Amino acid sequence: MTTLFDSYKECESVIIQMCNYNDNTNLDRLTMAINVCHSLQDDKEKIWRLSQTFLKTLWNNDEAVRKGFHKYFKDEVEKIKQMLEYHEKECPKHNCKVCAHEKNIKEKMVKMYERKRPKVYSQ
Ligand SMILES: [Zn+2]
Repeated sequence: MTTLFDSYKECESVIIQMCNYNDNTNLDRLTMAINVCHSLQDDKEKIWRLSQTFLKTLWNNDEAVRKGFHKYFKDEVEKIKQMLEYHEKECPKHNCKVCAHEKNIKEKMVKMYERKRPKVYSQ
């Protein structure tokens, strides 16, 4: 599974595109996983951790359950990698759905993370 990505950065971008903005439970899990990953050094370990967490979020995804999580994940990753590759060259900047989705997910993740942090550290 770690061979699906060239780097952790790529893995994170792809998984963010696969996140559902309205699924708070799963976003919360992924937020925690991403934060743990940011404290790790090894790219392979980070990719593995984030992918494992993402796979656990697929239980309420019918297509993933039917196809099998690993197959579903692999297929989706390939699709999104192609989409992001195209996006990198052709991003319209203005009203871009890909950029807007990433921004929205990241903002929501920051809020979730801030809420979890013990008050004593927040000043
Ligand atoms: Zn864009």
